[in-house]
Amino acid sequence: MNRQQLRGAILLLSFLLMSVTFVYFSPYGMMIGLVNGVIAAAFIFWIVIFALTLFIGRAFCGYICPMGAEQEIADRVLKTDLRVVPYLRYLKYLLAIIWVGGAVFLAAAAGRLVPDPLYGIGTGLPPWTAPLYLFFYGMTLGVFVLVLILGRRGMCNYFCPMSVGFIAISALKNRLRIPSLHLEAEKENCIRCKKCTAACPMSLPVQEMVENDRMQEPECILCGNCTGACPKNVLHLAWKWN
Ligand code: SF4
Ligand code: SF4
Repeated sequence: MNRQQLRGAILLLSFLLMSVTFVYFSPYGMMIGLVNGVIAAAFIFWIVIFALTLFIGRAFCGYICPMGAEQEIADRVLKTDLRVVPYLRYLKYLLAIIWVGGAVFLAAAAGRLVPDPLYGIGTGLPPWTAPLYLFFYGMTLGVFVLVLILGRRGMCNYFCPMSVGFIAISALKNRLRIPSLHLEAEKENCIRCKKCTAACPMSLPVQEMVENDRMQEPECILCGNCTGACPKNVLHLAWKWN
């Protein structure tokens, strides 16, 4: 099994388990916890994942995120390139400000926060279970519609507020050159066939990135699709910086 087959299998599993795992990472669940003065599992989850980004970059988006998985499954069926919609990318920054600002406001309003990773999880059905799953089904449908309208990983590119956190932390780790997962290229071997660009699920202009020595692209989810597609082994994922 090569890396892309393994990545595909993990993503498929993540998507199939989403109705069970959603409660552990749902932004909705995190907010409901804060309303009630509780640091719920979803809050802890996002703190841990953002901390890990310092070392694995956006690998969470490329290998584990069930919403990313849903988009890649839809991409394979629909085969639509990302539609470039000017300024729409700013929407995810606005959503991120609303999400983080809302979390800070709710935490301040609660006064005292009590960590409870099992909050809302277990045998008893908490009062917010039904709205949580309405949110879940709405989001699942919404992600598919976004891919249908916007093309490849349309949600990641234009709507995901979490991606803003990943972008900021990835940019920081790249600037500080923290030993971490990143993409490197041996530019001199490139024959400009653009197979890497065609293979990128994030619709990044990978050949131009190679040409312009711009490999630290914060939108890169380190999936490695381009490394496998390159006939000249120009691209590779690395841990230590050259
Ligand atoms: S540039 Fe390569 S590693 Fe990064 S998202 Fe695109 S295909 Fe994946
Ligand atoms: S696939 Fe490899 S050789 Fe072709 S353009 Fe991309 S980096 Fe260059």
